Amino acid sequence: MGKIVFFCIPAHGHTNPTLGVVRELIERGHEVWYYSYNMLKEKIEATGAKFVPCDEYDTELKLEPKDTARVGKDLAFSTKLLVDTTLALDDMVCKDMERLQPDCIVADSMAVWGKAVALKLGIPFVSSTTTFAFNKYSAKIMKQSIGELFGMIFSMSKIQKDIKRLQDKGYPVKNVLDIIQNDEKTDTVVYTSPQFQPCADTFSDKYAFVGPSVRTVTEQIEKTKEKLIYISMGTVNNDMLQLYKNCIAAFKETEYQVIMSVGNLVDIESFEELPENISVYTQVDQIAVLSQADVFLSHCGMNSVNESLYYEVPLVMYPQTSEQGGVANRVLQLGAGIQLKKTTPSAILEAIEEVMDNFSYQENAVKIADGFRKCTGAKAAADKILSVCMK
Ligand code: UDP
Repeated sequence: MGKIVFFCIPAHGHTNPTLGVVRELIERGHEVWYYSYNMLKEKIEATGAKFVPCDEYDTELKLEPKDTARVGKDLAFSTKLLVDTTLALDDMVCKDMERLQPDCIVADSMAVWGKAVALKLGIPFVSSTTTFAFNKYSAKIMKQSIGELFGMIFSMSKIQKDIKRLQDKGYPVKNVLDIIQNDEKTDTVVYTSPQFQPCADTFSDKYAFVGPSVRTVTEQIEKTKEKLIYISMGTVNNDMLQLYKNCIAAFKETEYQVIMSVGNLVDIESFEELPENISVYTQVDQIAVLSQADVFLSHCGMNSVNESLYYEVPLVMYPQTSEQGGVANRVLQLGAGIQLKKTTPSAILEAIEEVMDNFSYQENAVKIADGFRKCTGAKAAADKILSVCMK
């Protein structure tokens, strides 16, 4: 019986795809410990894993609101946070690992402390990637901006000081890329299909593209018109009242049914007197809606796009971050959607009708869905992890 330790960041999107894998490992008779955060405790314990809270060591959870916006944009600041978290966890985690003697550590690509401790203690390691895998070829397709690369070069000297703090604590890292980037030798599970991953053939056989983990439909929603349009900007940066109002103006005189999920940052009372064909909610069962929808206007979070394509729904895409932009570029490249260029009511209506009226977008969504269904998901991920344990 193997002992496997998972590390993840406090985010549902990064945790959800791993839960099936944990279940699969436990069903096969292995023991799993999961280092995460109290907001995810219930979900993690439901898999049968032993949950270990990291909240009190997390630097990011203690940030002032003004600084949270810098995370992910300012590389030097982000690296300092990652190093601070790694060092705060160092004592507790190293003692635990020495006692447990795990056969393998599995860490989310952003939970760099998991990778750092595996390197420090010489424990076999698997990276878990819930977005696309990244190398110089896929970066080109995803059009990661040159600005981001320059930002990285200029902040290197500041970052190097933080790397020294890790080295002083026995972490064998030479530069920031050792922990934030996976090389061709790192065993890596990627939760997408080889067809959807840009340039999948440029990655070594250490990479397992196991497919997305998408929930099955458990609820039914009523489709009241021939065509159903679903609109959501995700669960994080969804404070976009004007966009929602423009959507209502775009569709109020049409024959389409519209379901809009606006999140809890927008006051739902702002939408007084909705036309009978449009419903607005704080939150919906997205899988239930997508299983009936004809088109999805989305911010292109990786989970939303996976779910949309899995249910063969083409997209109108309005990405807000560079990661979402990368996902949108891939969908564009495979012809399963178009980008929303302007947010006026007429531009929204035109984009939605372009996608609904041209069968090719849906056809291409079906092709991607077929690729997703060929993947064996949690089983393939568990096989990959266990193959690393055996060594
Ligand atoms: N979601 C949902 N109901 C909603 C809006 C979103 O269940 O009303 C779920 C959606 O199915 C997806 C996740 O929230 O699994 C959003 O993740 P994504 O990566 O797309 O975007 P984020 O919210 O992280 O920006």
